Amino acid sequence: MKRHPRPTTDTSAAARDLIADLRRSLPSGALLDDPELLATYETDITGRYSGSAAAVARPSDAEQVSTAVAACAETGVPLVVQGGNTGLVGGSVPQDGELVLSLARLDWIGPVDGDANQLDVGAGATLEAVQKAAAAAGLRLPIDHAARSAATIGGMVATDAGGALALRHGTMRRRVVGLETVLADGSVVSRMAGLLKDNAGYDVPAIVIGSEGTLGAITAARLQLEPSAPFQITALFGVPDLRGALDLLRALRQVPGLEAADFLDAPCMELVCDRKRLRDPLPSPWGVYVVAQCAATADVTADLATQAESLPGPSDVVAATDTEGRKRLWAYRELLNETLRGEGVPLKFDVGLPLAAIPTFDEAIRARLASSYPDARLYIYGHVGDGNLHVNVLDVDPEDEGVDELVLRCAAEHGGTISAEHGIGLAKRRYLALCRSAADIRAMRSIKSALDPAGTFAPGRVLPDPDEEGI
Ligand SMILES: Cc1cc2nc3c(=O)[nH]c(=O)nc-3n(C[C@H](O)[C@H](O)[C@H](O)COP(=O)(O)OP(=O)(O)OC[C@H]3O[C@@H](n4cnc5c(N)ncnc54)[C@H](O)[C@@H]3O)c2cc1C
Repeated sequence: MKRHPRPTTDTSAAARDLIADLRRSLPSGALLDDPELLATYETDITGRYSGSAAAVARPSDAEQVSTAVAACAETGVPLVVQGGNTGLVGGSVPQDGELVLSLARLDWIGPVDGDANQLDVGAGATLEAVQKAAAAAGLRLPIDHAARSAATIGGMVATDAGGALALRHGTMRRRVVGLETVLADGSVVSRMAGLLKDNAGYDVPAIVIGSEGTLGAITAARLQLEPSAPFQITALFGVPDLRGALDLLRALRQVPGLEAADFLDAPCMELVCDRKRLRDPLPSPWGVYVVAQCAATADVTADLATQAESLPGPSDVVAATDTEGRKRLWAYRELLNETLRGEGVPLKFDVGLPLAAIPTFDEAIRARLASSYPDARLYIYGHVGDGNLHVNVLDVDPEDEGVDELVLRCAAEHGGTISAEHGIGLAKRRYLALCRSAADIRAMRSIKSALDPAGTFAPGRVLPDPDEEGI
Protein backbone atom coordinates (compact mmCIF):
# COMPACT_ATOMS: atom_id res chain seq x y z
CA MET A 1 0.00 0.00 0.00
CA LYS A 2 1.36 3.45 -0.88
CA ARG A 3 1.06 4.97 2.55
CA HIS A 4 1.80 8.56 3.50
CA PRO A 5 1.94 8.28 7.29
CA ARG A 6 0.27 10.83 9.52
CA PRO A 7 2.95 13.38 10.59
CA THR A 8 4.30 12.50 14.05
CA THR A 9 4.19 16.17 15.05
CA ASP A 10 0.68 17.44 15.78
CA THR A 11 -1.27 19.02 12.95
CA SER A 12 0.64 22.00 11.60
CA ALA A 13 -0.10 25.54 12.69
CA ALA A 14 -1.70 26.28 9.32
CA ALA A 15 -3.98 23.25 9.63
CA ARG A 16 -4.96 24.30 13.16
CA ASP A 17 -5.84 27.78 11.87
CA LEU A 18 -7.87 26.22 9.07
CA ILE A 19 -9.78 23.95 11.45
CA ALA A 20 -10.54 26.87 13.79
CA ASP A 21 -11.67 28.98 10.84
CA LEU A 22 -13.94 26.23 9.45
CA ARG A 23 -15.42 25.54 12.88
CA ARG A 24 -16.50 29.19 12.99
CA SER A 25 -17.76 29.45 9.43
CA LEU A 26 -19.41 26.07 8.67
CA PRO A 27 -22.54 24.73 10.39
CA SER A 28 -22.00 22.31 13.27
CA GLY A 29 -21.43 18.74 12.08
CA ALA A 30 -19.89 19.91 8.82
CA LEU A 31 -16.31 19.46 10.06
CA LEU A 32 -14.74 16.18 11.19
CA ASP A 33 -11.31 16.02 12.80
CA ASP A 34 -11.60 12.94 15.01
CA PRO A 35 -8.87 10.58 13.62
CA GLU A 36 -11.23 7.59 13.79
CA LEU A 37 -13.83 9.37 11.67
CA LEU A 38 -11.19 10.46 9.16
CA ALA A 39 -10.01 6.91 8.43
CA THR A 40 -12.64 6.04 5.80
CA TYR A 41 -11.77 9.19 3.84
CA GLU A 42 -8.04 8.46 3.92
CA THR A 43 -7.83 5.22 1.89
CA ASP A 44 -9.05 4.44 -1.62
CA ILE A 45 -11.33 1.57 -2.58
CA THR A 46 -8.48 -0.59 -3.97
CA GLY A 47 -6.41 -0.30 -0.79
CA ARG A 48 -3.37 0.72 -2.87
CA TYR A 49 -3.48 4.44 -2.03
CA SER A 50 -3.81 6.08 1.35
CA GLY A 51 -2.69 9.23 3.13
CA SER A 52 -3.50 11.60 5.97
CA ALA A 53 -6.08 14.38 6.26
CA ALA A 54 -6.00 17.40 8.57
CA ALA A 55 -9.81 17.23 8.69
CA VAL A 56 -12.87 16.54 6.53
CA ALA A 57 -15.22 19.39 5.59
CA ARG A 58 -18.72 18.30 4.58
CA PRO A 59 -20.50 21.38 3.19
CA SER A 60 -24.10 21.09 2.05
CA ASP A 61 -24.32 23.91 -0.50
CA ALA A 62 -22.13 25.82 -2.95
CA GLU A 63 -21.77 28.79 -0.60
CA GLN A 64 -20.30 26.56 2.11
CA VAL A 65 -18.00 24.97 -0.48
CA SER A 66 -16.81 28.45 -1.44
CA THR A 67 -16.21 29.27 2.24
CA ALA A 68 -14.12 26.13 2.73
CA VAL A 69 -12.07 26.69 -0.45
CA ALA A 70 -11.40 30.33 0.47
CA ALA A 71 -10.29 29.26 3.97
CA CYS A 72 -7.81 26.80 2.44
CA ALA A 73 -6.46 29.50 0.13
CA GLU A 74 -6.15 31.89 3.08
CA THR A 75 -4.31 29.47 5.38
CA GLY A 76 -2.26 27.79 2.65
CA VAL A 77 -3.55 24.28 3.42
CA PRO A 78 -4.29 22.39 0.18
CA LEU A 79 -7.47 20.38 -0.28
CA VAL A 80 -8.63 17.32 -2.14
CA VAL A 81 -12.23 17.04 -3.31
CA GLN A 82 -13.91 13.73 -2.59
CA GLY A 83 -17.22 12.35 -3.86
CA GLY A 84 -18.00 8.66 -3.40
CA ASN A 85 -14.29 7.71 -3.12
CA THR A 86 -14.75 4.98 -5.75
CA GLY A 87 -12.02 6.37 -8.04
CA LEU A 88 -9.32 3.86 -8.97
CA VAL A 89 -6.22 6.08 -9.35
CA GLY A 90 -5.76 7.47 -5.83
CA GLY A 91 -7.02 10.91 -6.87
CA SER A 92 -9.54 11.32 -4.04
CA VAL A 93 -7.17 10.35 -1.22
CA PRO A 94 -5.66 13.16 0.92
CA GLN A 95 -1.89 13.51 1.08
CA ASP A 96 0.26 14.91 3.91
CA GLY A 97 -2.45 16.59 5.96
CA GLU A 98 -4.64 18.11 3.22
CA LEU A 99 -8.27 19.03 3.89
CA VAL A 100 -10.74 16.52 2.44
CA LEU A 101 -13.60 18.50 0.90
CA SER A 102 -16.34 15.87 0.81
CA LEU A 103 -19.21 16.91 -1.45
CA ALA A 104 -21.41 13.89 -0.71
CA ARG A 105 -23.94 16.09 1.09
CA LEU A 106 -24.70 18.08 -2.07
CA ASP A 107 -27.01 15.26 -3.06
CA TRP A 108 -30.11 17.19 -4.18
CA ILE A 109 -31.89 16.25 -7.40
CA GLY A 110 -34.09 18.83 -9.12
CA PRO A 111 -37.26 18.25 -11.14
CA VAL A 112 -36.88 17.08 -14.75
CA ASP A 113 -37.19 19.86 -17.34
CA GLY A 114 -39.52 18.06 -19.75
CA ASP A 115 -39.08 20.64 -22.53
CA ALA A 116 -35.35 20.01 -22.83
CA ASN A 117 -35.18 16.55 -21.14
CA GLN A 118 -32.61 18.01 -18.76
CA LEU A 119 -32.06 17.59 -15.02
CA ASP A 120 -30.18 19.71 -12.45
CA VAL A 121 -28.41 17.75 -9.72
CA GLY A 122 -26.03 18.45 -6.86
CA ALA A 123 -22.49 17.12 -7.22
CA GLY A 124 -23.05 14.63 -4.38
CA ALA A 125 -26.05 12.87 -5.97
CA THR A 126 -25.12 9.28 -6.74
CA LEU A 127 -25.30 7.91 -10.27
CA GLU A 128 -27.95 5.42 -9.18
CA ALA A 129 -30.16 8.10 -7.57
CA VAL A 130 -30.02 10.20 -10.75
CA GLN A 131 -30.73 7.14 -12.94
CA LYS A 132 -33.81 6.47 -10.79
CA ALA A 133 -35.00 10.10 -10.99
CA ALA A 134 -34.68 10.02 -14.78
CA ALA A 135 -36.54 6.69 -14.99
CA ALA A 136 -39.36 8.08 -12.83
CA ALA A 137 -39.89 10.74 -15.51
CA GLY A 138 -39.89 8.09 -18.29
CA LEU A 139 -36.38 9.12 -19.36
CA ARG A 140 -32.90 7.72 -19.07
CA LEU A 141 -29.41 8.90 -18.07
CA PRO A 142 -27.46 6.73 -20.51
CA ILE A 143 -24.24 6.35 -18.57
CA ASP A 144 -23.60 3.48 -16.23
CA HIS A 145 -21.00 1.51 -14.31
CA ALA A 146 -20.79 -0.97 -11.48
CA ALA A 147 -20.01 1.62 -8.74
CA ARG A 148 -23.36 3.36 -9.42
CA SER A 149 -24.61 3.20 -5.81
CA ALA A 150 -21.63 5.21 -4.46
CA ALA A 151 -20.08 7.16 -7.35
CA THR A 152 -21.28 10.77 -7.40
CA ILE A 153 -22.13 12.95 -10.37
CA GLY A 154 -19.38 15.39 -9.28
CA GLY A 155 -16.79 12.60 -9.27
CA MET A 156 -18.01 11.32 -12.61
CA VAL A 157 -17.80 14.76 -14.21
CA ALA A 158 -14.39 15.35 -12.62
CA THR A 159 -13.05 12.11 -14.13
CA ASP A 160 -15.10 12.29 -17.35
CA ALA A 161 -16.27 8.77 -16.46
CA GLY A 162 -17.13 6.40 -19.27
CA GLY A 163 -18.64 3.00 -18.48
CA ALA A 164 -20.32 0.39 -20.62
CA LEU A 165 -22.71 2.65 -22.52
CA ALA A 166 -20.04 5.07 -23.81
CA LEU A 167 -19.90 3.07 -27.06
CA ARG A 168 -23.11 4.76 -28.19
CA HIS A 169 -23.82 7.56 -25.71
CA GLY A 170 -20.32 8.92 -25.09
CA THR A 171 -18.60 9.68 -21.79
CA MET A 172 -19.84 11.97 -19.02
CA ARG A 173 -18.71 15.00 -21.02
CA ARG A 174 -21.52 14.37 -23.51
CA ARG A 175 -24.14 14.31 -20.72
CA VAL A 176 -23.10 17.65 -19.17
CA VAL A 177 -25.00 20.66 -20.52
CA GLY A 178 -24.39 22.89 -17.50
CA LEU A 179 -21.89 23.09 -14.66
CA GLU A 180 -21.40 25.05 -11.45
CA THR A 181 -17.84 25.18 -10.14
CA VAL A 182 -16.12 26.81 -7.17
CA LEU A 183 -12.67 28.04 -8.23
CA ALA A 184 -9.53 28.33 -6.11
CA ASP A 185 -10.25 31.92 -4.98
CA GLY A 186 -13.71 30.86 -3.77
CA SER A 187 -15.54 32.43 -6.74
CA VAL A 188 -18.41 30.47 -8.30
CA VAL A 189 -18.68 29.99 -12.08
CA SER A 190 -22.27 28.98 -12.81
CA ARG A 191 -23.25 27.95 -16.35
CA MET A 192 -26.43 26.01 -15.70
CA ALA A 193 -28.71 27.29 -18.48
CA GLY A 194 -28.38 24.10 -20.54
CA LEU A 195 -28.38 25.99 -23.83
CA LEU A 196 -27.72 23.83 -26.85
CA LYS A 197 -25.95 26.73 -28.53
CA ASP A 198 -23.86 29.09 -26.42
CA ASN A 199 -20.37 29.98 -27.63
CA ALA A 200 -19.91 33.21 -25.71
CA GLY A 201 -16.25 33.16 -24.73
CA TYR A 202 -14.08 30.31 -23.45
CA ASP A 203 -15.85 27.16 -22.32
CA VAL A 204 -14.69 27.03 -18.68
CA PRO A 205 -16.88 24.00 -17.82
CA ALA A 206 -15.27 22.05 -20.69
CA ILE A 207 -11.87 22.55 -19.06
CA VAL A 208 -13.14 21.54 -15.62
CA ILE A 209 -14.67 18.28 -16.95
CA GLY A 210 -12.00 15.59 -16.62
CA SER A 211 -9.68 17.78 -14.54
CA GLU A 212 -9.91 15.37 -11.57
CA GLY A 213 -10.42 18.00 -8.88
CA THR A 214 -7.26 19.94 -9.77
CA LEU A 215 -8.97 23.08 -11.15
CA GLY A 216 -12.06 23.53 -8.98
CA ALA A 217 -14.83 21.90 -6.98
CA ILE A 218 -17.88 20.99 -9.05
CA THR A 219 -20.98 21.72 -6.99
CA ALA A 220 -23.80 21.05 -9.50
CA ALA A 221 -24.40 19.82 -13.02
CA ARG A 222 -27.21 20.02 -15.55
CA LEU A 223 -27.50 16.69 -17.35
CA GLN A 224 -28.97 15.79 -20.73
CA LEU A 225 -31.35 12.83 -20.48
CA GLU A 226 -32.63 10.66 -23.34
CA PRO A 227 -35.95 8.96 -24.04
CA SER A 228 -36.06 5.39 -22.69
CA ALA A 229 -35.88 2.63 -25.29
CA PRO A 230 -38.87 0.27 -25.10
CA PHE A 231 -36.82 -2.79 -26.09
CA GLN A 232 -33.54 -3.91 -24.50
CA ILE A 233 -31.58 -7.07 -25.08
CA THR A 234 -28.35 -8.23 -23.45
CA ALA A 235 -26.35 -11.06 -25.02
CA LEU A 236 -23.32 -12.88 -23.64
CA PHE A 237 -21.15 -14.39 -26.38
CA GLY A 238 -18.28 -16.84 -26.17
CA VAL A 239 -15.54 -16.39 -28.81
CA PRO A 240 -12.08 -17.99 -29.10
CA ASP A 241 -9.98 -14.85 -28.58
CA LEU A 242 -9.85 -11.05 -28.92
CA ARG A 243 -9.61 -11.28 -32.73
CA GLY A 244 -12.92 -13.14 -32.56
CA ALA A 245 -14.27 -10.40 -30.28
CA LEU A 246 -13.38 -7.76 -32.90
CA ASP A 247 -15.10 -9.82 -35.64
CA LEU A 248 -18.15 -9.97 -33.36
CA LEU A 249 -18.04 -6.22 -32.71
CA ARG A 250 -17.94 -5.52 -36.46
CA ALA A 251 -21.04 -7.71 -36.92
CA LEU A 252 -22.88 -6.24 -33.92
CA ARG A 253 -22.45 -2.72 -35.28
CA GLN A 254 -25.07 -3.72 -37.89
CA VAL A 255 -27.67 -4.34 -35.16
CA PRO A 256 -29.90 -1.30 -34.47
CA GLY A 257 -29.36 0.25 -31.04
CA LEU A 258 -26.04 -1.38 -30.13
CA GLU A 259 -24.92 0.52 -27.02
CA ALA A 260 -22.44 -1.67 -25.14
CA ALA A 261 -19.80 -4.26 -25.98
CA ASP A 262 -17.82 -5.25 -22.87
CA PHE A 263 -15.61 -8.31 -22.45
CA LEU A 264 -13.84 -10.52 -19.95
CA ASP A 265 -11.07 -13.05 -20.54
CA ALA A 266 -11.23 -16.71 -19.51
CA PRO A 267 -9.32 -16.28 -16.20
CA CYS A 268 -11.82 -13.53 -15.23
CA MET A 269 -14.78 -15.82 -15.99
CA GLU A 270 -13.24 -18.71 -14.03
CA LEU A 271 -12.49 -16.47 -11.04
CA VAL A 272 -15.89 -14.76 -10.87
CA CYS A 273 -17.73 -18.09 -11.24
CA ASP A 274 -15.62 -19.67 -8.51
CA ARG A 275 -15.66 -16.83 -5.97
CA LYS A 276 -19.27 -15.73 -6.52
CA ARG A 277 -20.58 -19.31 -6.95
CA LEU A 278 -21.97 -18.58 -10.41
CA ARG A 279 -22.53 -21.09 -13.18
CA ASP A 280 -20.57 -20.58 -16.43
CA PRO A 281 -23.29 -19.03 -18.62
CA LEU A 282 -22.32 -21.09 -21.68
CA PRO A 283 -22.13 -24.90 -21.92
CA SER A 284 -18.39 -24.97 -22.72
CA PRO A 285 -15.55 -22.57 -21.84
CA TRP A 286 -14.33 -19.88 -24.28
CA GLY A 287 -11.19 -17.74 -24.48
CA VAL A 288 -13.11 -14.45 -24.37
CA TYR A 289 -16.65 -13.55 -23.34
CA VAL A 290 -18.39 -10.46 -24.79
CA VAL A 291 -21.40 -8.85 -23.10
CA ALA A 292 -23.31 -6.79 -25.65
CA GLN A 293 -26.44 -4.71 -25.22
CA CYS A 294 -28.89 -3.11 -27.66
CA ALA A 295 -31.59 -0.59 -26.73
CA ALA A 296 -34.01 -0.01 -29.59
CA THR A 297 -37.53 1.04 -30.47
CA ALA A 298 -38.41 -2.46 -31.74
CA ASP A 299 -37.37 -6.07 -31.08
CA VAL A 300 -33.89 -6.63 -32.59
CA THR A 301 -33.45 -10.28 -31.50
CA ALA A 302 -33.60 -11.55 -35.09
CA ASP A 303 -30.99 -8.97 -36.26
CA LEU A 304 -28.72 -10.07 -33.41
CA ALA A 305 -29.10 -13.75 -34.34
CA THR A 306 -28.41 -13.04 -38.03
CA GLN A 307 -25.22 -11.15 -37.21
CA ALA A 308 -24.06 -13.84 -34.75
CA GLU A 309 -24.49 -16.49 -37.46
CA SER A 310 -22.45 -14.41 -39.91
CA LEU A 311 -19.26 -14.64 -37.82
CA PRO A 312 -16.23 -16.20 -39.60
CA GLY A 313 -15.19 -18.23 -36.51
CA PRO A 314 -16.91 -20.35 -33.85
CA SER A 315 -19.04 -18.71 -31.14
CA ASP A 316 -21.87 -19.36 -28.74
CA VAL A 317 -24.43 -17.00 -27.20
CA VAL A 318 -27.05 -16.68 -24.51
CA ALA A 319 -29.40 -13.68 -24.38
CA ALA A 320 -32.07 -12.12 -22.16
CA THR A 321 -34.63 -9.37 -22.67
CA ASP A 322 -36.18 -9.22 -19.18
CA THR A 323 -34.60 -6.96 -16.53
CA GLU A 324 -33.57 -9.77 -14.16
CA GLY A 325 -32.16 -11.92 -16.95
CA ARG A 326 -30.15 -9.00 -18.34
CA LYS A 327 -28.79 -8.20 -14.86
CA ARG A 328 -27.73 -11.84 -14.46
CA LEU A 329 -25.71 -11.67 -17.69
CA TRP A 330 -24.08 -8.37 -16.73
CA ALA A 331 -23.16 -9.77 -13.28
CA TYR A 332 -20.22 -11.79 -14.70
CA ARG A 333 -18.66 -8.53 -15.89
CA GLU A 334 -19.84 -6.21 -13.12
CA LEU A 335 -18.74 -8.39 -10.18
CA LEU A 336 -15.13 -8.49 -11.37
CA ASN A 337 -13.93 -5.35 -9.62
CA GLU A 338 -14.99 -6.49 -6.15
CA THR A 339 -13.99 -10.12 -6.88
CA LEU A 340 -10.44 -9.03 -7.68
CA ARG A 341 -10.28 -6.84 -4.59
CA GLY A 342 -11.14 -9.97 -2.58
CA GLU A 343 -7.92 -11.55 -3.88
CA GLY A 344 -5.54 -8.92 -2.46
CA VAL A 345 -4.45 -5.46 -3.59
CA PRO A 346 -4.85 -5.48 -7.38
CA LEU A 347 -2.68 -3.21 -9.52
CA LYS A 348 -5.29 -1.74 -11.85
CA PHE A 349 -4.65 -0.18 -15.25
CA ASP A 350 -7.17 1.37 -17.61
CA VAL A 351 -5.63 1.71 -21.02
CA GLY A 352 -7.25 2.80 -24.29
CA LEU A 353 -6.11 1.38 -27.63
CA PRO A 354 -6.95 1.63 -31.31
CA LEU A 355 -9.27 -1.34 -31.88
CA ALA A 356 -6.92 -3.01 -34.36
CA ALA A 357 -4.09 -2.97 -31.79
CA ILE A 358 -6.04 -4.80 -29.06
CA PRO A 359 -4.95 -8.38 -29.93
CA THR A 360 -1.25 -7.52 -30.29
CA PHE A 361 -1.32 -5.45 -27.08
CA ASP A 362 -2.93 -8.40 -25.30
CA GLU A 363 -0.27 -10.82 -26.56
CA ALA A 364 2.57 -8.41 -25.72
CA ILE A 365 1.39 -7.65 -22.19
CA ARG A 366 0.95 -11.33 -21.37
CA ALA A 367 4.45 -12.18 -22.66
CA ARG A 368 6.19 -9.22 -20.97
CA LEU A 369 4.49 -9.78 -17.62
CA ALA A 370 5.20 -13.52 -17.66
CA SER A 371 8.86 -12.80 -18.37
CA SER A 372 9.37 -10.06 -15.72
CA TYR A 373 6.85 -11.19 -13.09
CA PRO A 374 6.39 -14.97 -13.49
CA ASP A 375 4.33 -15.29 -10.29
CA ALA A 376 1.86 -12.52 -11.20
CA ARG A 377 -1.76 -13.32 -12.02
CA LEU A 378 -3.23 -11.33 -14.91
CA TYR A 379 -6.92 -10.59 -15.46
CA ILE A 380 -8.06 -8.49 -18.43
CA TYR A 381 -11.57 -7.21 -18.98
CA GLY A 382 -13.18 -3.95 -20.07
CA HIS A 383 -15.07 -2.20 -22.82
CA VAL A 384 -13.85 -3.83 -26.03
CA GLY A 385 -16.09 -1.65 -28.23
CA ASP A 386 -14.32 1.47 -26.91
CA GLY A 387 -10.82 -0.06 -27.13
CA ASN A 388 -10.72 0.27 -23.33
CA LEU A 389 -8.94 -2.56 -21.51
CA HIS A 390 -8.76 -2.91 -17.72
CA VAL A 391 -5.53 -4.75 -17.00
CA ASN A 392 -5.44 -6.15 -13.45
CA VAL A 393 -2.29 -7.62 -11.95
CA LEU A 394 -2.37 -9.63 -8.73
CA ASP A 395 0.30 -11.23 -6.56
CA VAL A 396 2.90 -8.50 -7.06
CA ASP A 397 4.15 -6.00 -4.49
CA PRO A 398 1.80 -2.96 -4.64
CA GLU A 399 4.86 -0.76 -4.00
CA ASP A 400 6.56 -2.08 -7.16
CA GLU A 401 6.14 0.60 -9.82
CA GLY A 402 7.86 -1.63 -12.38
CA VAL A 403 4.51 -3.20 -13.25
CA ASP A 404 2.97 0.26 -13.83
CA GLU A 405 5.72 1.20 -16.24
CA LEU A 406 5.58 -2.13 -18.06
CA VAL A 407 1.81 -1.95 -18.68
CA LEU A 408 1.58 1.76 -19.48
CA ARG A 409 4.60 1.74 -21.77
CA CYS A 410 3.14 -1.23 -23.64
CA ALA A 411 -0.13 0.71 -24.16
CA ALA A 412 1.74 3.77 -25.44
CA GLU A 413 3.86 1.64 -27.79
CA HIS A 414 0.64 0.28 -29.30
CA GLY A 415 -0.62 3.79 -30.08
CA GLY A 416 -2.85 3.99 -27.02
CA THR A 417 -3.45 6.11 -23.95
CA ILE A 418 -2.42 5.36 -20.35
CA SER A 419 -5.88 6.40 -19.12
CA ALA A 420 -9.17 5.78 -20.93
CA GLU A 421 -11.71 6.59 -18.20
CA HIS A 422 -10.31 6.26 -14.66
CA GLY A 423 -8.01 9.28 -14.87
CA ILE A 424 -4.41 9.98 -13.92
CA GLY A 425 -4.72 10.90 -10.22
CA LEU A 426 -1.67 10.01 -8.19
CA ALA A 427 -1.23 6.65 -9.86
CA LYS A 428 -0.17 7.63 -13.36
CA ARG A 429 1.08 11.21 -13.23
CA ARG A 430 4.71 10.08 -13.61
CA TYR A 431 3.77 8.43 -16.90
CA LEU A 432 1.74 11.22 -18.52
CA ALA A 433 4.55 11.95 -20.99
CA LEU A 434 4.12 8.46 -22.44
CA CYS A 435 0.99 9.67 -24.23
CA ARG A 436 1.11 13.50 -24.06
CA SER A 437 3.77 15.69 -25.70
CA ALA A 438 5.89 18.23 -23.81
CA ALA A 439 3.89 21.04 -25.48
CA ASP A 440 0.63 19.45 -24.34
CA ILE A 441 1.86 19.11 -20.75
CA ARG A 442 3.13 22.74 -20.78
CA ALA A 443 -0.34 23.90 -21.88
CA MET A 444 -1.89 21.89 -19.04
CA ARG A 445 0.52 23.49 -16.55
CA SER A 446 -0.44 26.96 -17.85
CA ILE A 447 -4.13 26.24 -17.30
CA LYS A 448 -3.44 24.92 -13.79
CA SER A 449 -1.34 27.91 -12.78
CA ALA A 450 -3.85 30.39 -14.26
CA LEU A 451 -6.83 28.92 -12.40
CA ASP A 452 -5.07 27.78 -9.23
CA PRO A 453 -1.82 29.74 -8.87
CA ALA A 454 -1.26 28.80 -5.22
CA GLY A 455 -1.89 25.08 -5.81
CA THR A 456 -4.84 24.85 -3.43
CA PHE A 457 -6.60 22.08 -5.37
CA ALA A 458 -5.03 18.60 -5.21
CA PRO A 459 -1.35 19.45 -5.68
CA GLY A 460 0.71 16.60 -7.12
CA ARG A 461 -2.16 14.98 -9.00
CA VAL A 462 -2.50 14.57 -12.79
CA LEU A 463 0.59 16.62 -13.75
CA PRO A 464 4.04 15.09 -13.27
CA ASP A 465 6.72 16.88 -11.29
CA PRO A 466 8.92 18.70 -13.83
CA ASP A 467 11.81 16.27 -13.18
CA GLU A 468 9.51 13.30 -13.94
CA GLU A 469 8.52 14.38 -17.44
CA GLY A 470 11.22 12.26 -19.08
CA ILE A 471 9.39 8.95 -18.49
C1 LIG B 1 -16.73 -1.31 -9.16
C2 LIG B 1 -16.25 -0.10 -9.89
C3 LIG B 1 -16.53 0.04 -11.24
C4 LIG B 1 -16.14 1.18 -11.94
N1 LIG B 1 -16.42 1.26 -13.25
C5 LIG B 1 -16.10 2.37 -13.93
C6 LIG B 1 -16.41 2.50 -15.32
O1 LIG B 1 -16.96 1.58 -15.93
N2 LIG B 1 -16.11 3.67 -15.94
C7 LIG B 1 -15.49 4.70 -15.28
O2 LIG B 1 -15.25 5.73 -15.88
N3 LIG B 1 -15.14 4.58 -13.97
C8 LIG B 1 -15.43 3.46 -13.29
N4 LIG B 1 -15.07 3.34 -11.97
C9 LIG B 1 -14.29 4.40 -11.31
C10 LIG B 1 -15.14 5.42 -10.51
O3 LIG B 1 -16.31 4.92 -10.01
C11 LIG B 1 -15.46 6.59 -11.34
O4 LIG B 1 -14.27 7.21 -11.71
C12 LIG B 1 -16.34 7.63 -10.64
O5 LIG B 1 -16.62 8.57 -11.59
C13 LIG B 1 -15.77 8.35 -9.44
O6 LIG B 1 -16.83 8.98 -8.72
P1 LIG B 1 -16.67 9.31 -7.16
O7 LIG B 1 -17.80 10.17 -6.74
O8 LIG B 1 -16.49 8.06 -6.38
O9 LIG B 1 -15.34 10.16 -7.16
P2 LIG B 1 -14.11 10.09 -6.17
O10 LIG B 1 -13.50 8.74 -6.19
O11 LIG B 1 -14.49 10.60 -4.85
O12 LIG B 1 -13.13 11.11 -6.88
C14 LIG B 1 -12.56 10.82 -8.14
C15 LIG B 1 -11.78 12.06 -8.62
O13 LIG B 1 -12.69 13.14 -8.88
C16 LIG B 1 -12.42 14.26 -8.02
N5 LIG B 1 -13.72 14.75 -7.58
C17 LIG B 1 -14.71 14.05 -6.96
N6 LIG B 1 -15.79 14.83 -6.80
C18 LIG B 1 -15.49 16.05 -7.32
C19 LIG B 1 -16.19 17.28 -7.45
N7 LIG B 1 -17.45 17.40 -7.03
N8 LIG B 1 -15.55 18.33 -8.00
C20 LIG B 1 -14.27 18.23 -8.46
N9 LIG B 1 -13.56 17.08 -8.34
C21 LIG B 1 -14.16 16.01 -7.81
C22 LIG B 1 -11.56 13.70 -6.89
O14 LIG B 1 -10.72 14.70 -6.36
C23 LIG B 1 -10.80 12.60 -7.60
O15 LIG B 1 -9.71 13.14 -8.30
C24 LIG B 1 -15.43 2.21 -11.25
C25 LIG B 1 -15.14 2.07 -9.90
C26 LIG B 1 -15.54 0.93 -9.22
C27 LIG B 1 -15.21 0.81 -7.76
